[in-house]
Amino acid sequence: RIAYVNGQYVPYAQAGVHVEDRGFQFADGVYEVVAVKDGGFVDLEGHLVRLERSLDELRIDRPMSRAALSVVLAETVRRNRVRNGSVYLQITRGAARREFPFPDGVAPTFVAIARHLDWAKGAANAARGVAAITHPDIRWGRCDIKTVGLLPAALAKQAAKESGAYEAWLVDDQGFVTEGSSSNAWIVTKDNVLVTRKPTHEILSGITRSAVLELAKREGLKVEFRPFTVAEAQAAKEAFVSSATSFVIPVVTLDGKPIGNGGPGVVVARLRSLYEAHAATHSTD
Ligand code: PLP
Repeated sequence: RIAYVNGQYVPYAQAGVHVEDRGFQFADGVYEVVAVKDGGFVDLEGHLVRLERSLDELRIDRPMSRAALSVVLAETVRRNRVRNGSVYLQITRGAARREFPFPDGVAPTFVAIARHLDWAKGAANAARGVAAITHPDIRWGRCDIKTVGLLPAALAKQAAKESGAYEAWLVDDQGFVTEGSSSNAWIVTKDNVLVTRKPTHEILSGITRSAVLELAKREGLKVEFRPFTVAEAQAAKEAFVSSATSFVIPVVTLDGKPIGNGGPGVVVARLRSLYEAHAATHSTD
């Protein structure tokens, strides 16, 4: 395996950053995960646009142009012979003597890693449906920025794992679901209306979420942008998560309570198949 680290492609075992990297000390960095399907990136442009927004919000310098960044990602994928998988990229403010304010004249750290992923497993999850649990949303006030400060997400995902669930749906102080620990959360009402939160500071505006919204619109499905409670989700007809590596996966139980008939529903199945087709057309070698 080969990783990209600050301008060089290095063997995985030797790939590292400085001990005083601000990503390591302050979670002062951002990241993206882009799916690789049949040799092509899925929604690459959207991920790169969001990456630049995250960097700008934190005033971290862009290490290179969007085009140059795409080349690095493609080369990282190519050198690892990944045709189906994902590429992870992380950009931090850089390495400097540990002081809280931003350092002067320090170049950002940029790393990229590619990995294989078996899409058949995702398809099997989609066919079966998955379990989700609820977990308090203890994250900070700028969840719209895709930072590497993922400890609350890791704690929530660990709780899900210990319950045998696929995902943890995070719940705010008022009892509303914000999103999944690493996915956006949706429900489908009895009238086949999609419900998902507005992309405010409380959630990450998912690239998959945006693509699904576009596909749903073309399909003539109604969408309501509003928070929903745990009880409303449990009483919904269908529910699902969306993310770059999950695509669209039906959630069939929430805290052990069946949603709808407790199996995958037709609306989510349709959205997944539309997204799969979209992912295939956006695959370019
Ligand atoms: N919400 C959170 C908190 C996430 O971490 C992610 C992805 O990792 C998503 C939503 C889904 O975003 P995307 O569809 O861009 O992968």
